[in-house]
Amino acid sequence: MTISQRLKQVRSRIHHAEQTAGRPAGSVCLMAVSKTQSPAAVAAAYRAGQRHFGENYLQEAIAKQRCLSNYRVTWHFIGPVQSNKTQIIASRFSWVHSVDRMKIARRLNQQRPFDLGPLNICLQINIDGEESKSGISIEQLPELADEISSLPNLRLRGLMTIPAIRKDTTSASTPFRKMRNAFHNLVTKGYCLDTLSMGMSDDLEAAITEDSTIVRIGTSIFGPRRISQPAPADPNTV
Ligand SMILES: *Cc1c(COP(=O)(O)O)cnc(C)c1O
Repeated sequence: MTISQRLKQVRSRIHHAEQTAGRPAGSVCLMAVSKTQSPAAVAAAYRAGQRHFGENYLQEAIAKQRCLSNYRVTWHFIGPVQSNKTQIIASRFSWVHSVDRMKIARRLNQQRPFDLGPLNICLQINIDGEESKSGISIEQLPELADEISSLPNLRLRGLMTIPAIRKDTTSASTPFRKMRNAFHNLVTKGYCLDTLSMGMSDDLEAAITEDSTIVRIGTSIFGPRRISQPAPADPNTV
């Protein structure tokens, strides 16, 4: 199958899940996660109408952005943010979904070029409390949300999560429901949020049932990932 055909399938899954959940058509945004994929693969998805792309590895993302500088892509950063990379992230991306520390938020706020407008931010929640994953707990959320809201060059849009892998698809909804509750609690407190970034290739339907507004889809669009790039030897090179 081509990327264009796979994209069509994913859009139809999203559409169907929106209908099943009684949500308006078009209420869920599709982000294509292009990590480890070639610029040509991104270009193929773009020609098939895809505009939002997510990347995890900065060095790889910058190389792709250079190749695709004539394309009107909205770039989302979704990987762990190291503090020595915040300047580049703040100037090359429209969104960062993986903020989980005030130190990182302050640097992104300071380094966001003024002419680009505020950087869109999601706070990453480690919803299953896994040691291997970044993200804060639900208990830490009120404090971080409060502090981040005061930074003028960031715009807090919502929450993001990557749940633990579950063998049983029926239990996929448990972490998403917790996220939904946390999100609505913040909205009730007066935060102006519109984004719940959750749902990947295997669980997008469960996420949409629980009010996801952005699904992050890699494998179902691009096929299996290529071997990921080795980490750069010098952490200060881009
Ligand atoms: C890789 C990745 C995805 C996409 O996962 P698939 O299962 O390939 O759809 C989504 N979100 C994040 C943060 C990722 O790292």
